[in-house]
Amino acid sequence: MTRQAPLLTELVNLATARRRGGASVLPPVGEALAAAFAAGLGDRTAAAVLAVPDAGARLAELATELRQALLAASPADQAARVNAMIARYGAQPYLVEDVGQPFHLHFHGSGGTPVEALGGEFAMVLALVVDGYGPDRFGECAAHQCEAVYIDLTRNGSRRYCGAACTARAKTAAYRGRRQA
Ligand SMILES: [Zn+2]
Repeated sequence: MTRQAPLLTELVNLATARRRGGASVLPPVGEALAAAFAAGLGDRTAAAVLAVPDAGARLAELATELRQALLAASPADQAARVNAMIARYGAQPYLVEDVGQPFHLHFHGSGGTPVEALGGEFAMVLALVVDGYGPDRFGECAAHQCEAVYIDLTRNGSRRYCGAACTARAKTAAYRGRRQA
């Protein structure tokens, strides 16, 4: 399940981050958002998402909910937001056998479009991270000029940046800062 964490943060960052990797970005909206997000999905899921009416608006709404849950002010607020998403998207556990893989557990949302199915899946990713790793495994990138979020699945909870590029930028900035001091 937590294999879906990068997909979840990619949606949040695509749709909600106005600064990424040191530069201002204009988050795509509507069909452009749907197309950009679908590019990271498997063919079948991508086609299903792109066929949803107002896919971009639905994805933007889901991204905003996820960002608020990820960066919630307290563990209680976070749990309330995650629980509300699980209920709203009707996340239901079921076993899936993908080609070449043994049966494994998914939690697709029920009763909506493929975007709402993803919403249920993503809500459960957050719930499983809180359950397995604790409430402080989510954050906003600590590098200069970056609003991207991350989910920290490291053993010791040491992650501070959204990715390798921002980690390198922050290291360079810290080195320059030390040299000037
Ligand atoms: Zn970053």
